[in-house]
Amino acid sequence: MSETVHTYAGNPLDRGESLRRSEETIAALAADDTSLFLPFHKLEVANDGDGLCWLERAAIPAGYRQEIFLGTRDNVAHFAVDLPEVPTGLTFTDCRSIAAALSTEETGIVAQARAQLEWHHRNPFCALCGAPSQPERGGQIRRCTSCESYIHPRTDPVAIMLVVDEPGGNRCLLGRPNGRLANSNFFTALAGFLDQGESIEEAVRREVWEEAGIRVGAVRYHSSQPWPFSSQLMIGCHAVAETHEIRFDPVEMADVQWFSRAEAGAAVDQATDAAIRVPGAMAIAHHLIRSWVQAEVEL
Ligand SMILES: [Zn+2]
Repeated sequence: MSETVHTYAGNPLDRGESLRRSEETIAALAADDTSLFLPFHKLEVANDGDGLCWLERAAIPAGYRQEIFLGTRDNVAHFAVDLPEVPTGLTFTDCRSIAAALSTEETGIVAQARAQLEWHHRNPFCALCGAPSQPERGGQIRRCTSCESYIHPRTDPVAIMLVVDEPGGNRCLLGRPNGRLANSNFFTALAGFLDQGESIEEAVRREVWEEAGIRVGAVRYHSSQPWPFSSQLMIGCHAVAETHEIRFDPVEMADVQWFSRAEAGAAVDQATDAAIRVPGAMAIAHHLIRSWVQAEVEL
């Protein structure tokens, strides 16, 4: 069974569960000359244009804000460090723009580091008592300095689905959300956050009903993609429609249409005569469309 590894997955680091149990061990690794540090500034990552810039401890300027232990590789500890100023000689790029220039493994490390740094930045206080919280376990969790509650990072699940018109069908359902691209020819797979107390299959059926007015039957999982803006997990599915008349939600959607396999295929191939544009290969939506166009999925 082949597995699709998307951008922002494929992190090669061993996250070092046993090392995290000792604050002394993490502190010793952070002080070790052989450890490597990936600098961030305002959630942008240090790079040289086609790779990440890892620095040794001695090269990290004093006065950094946050340091998190990412894990180990070949017995070398890897950390991410949040710098308040841009040091001379380092270039920082936002983690979306730089992804295409990085290896899949590097995007996986960037996803872990960016999501964790933003979570620490957004959670300085305990949600129960309001006292300051402190990182523990190398930044894997935080703990309240007053009531001692553990605060765990959150990952928000998002269902993203390509709906086809019938089993073995020749049309797929694509939509264009309102917002920045509302007046373009851009279309993508429908998507939405899972509600609490809802299965993935139920979320797929609810979102398609809410956004397009289409009833969905069978739902098949395809693959998943970490999306570290801020910390989401995109859960990619294919699904089969039971009704076909579109009544889209004009608040959320600018347009929803059925497209033929040929139209969708031209779009994923970026053919010069393609009538619409769809997301590029960095996004799971691209692969949901492509795998259906190429008849790699059975529905
Ligand atoms: Zn507290």
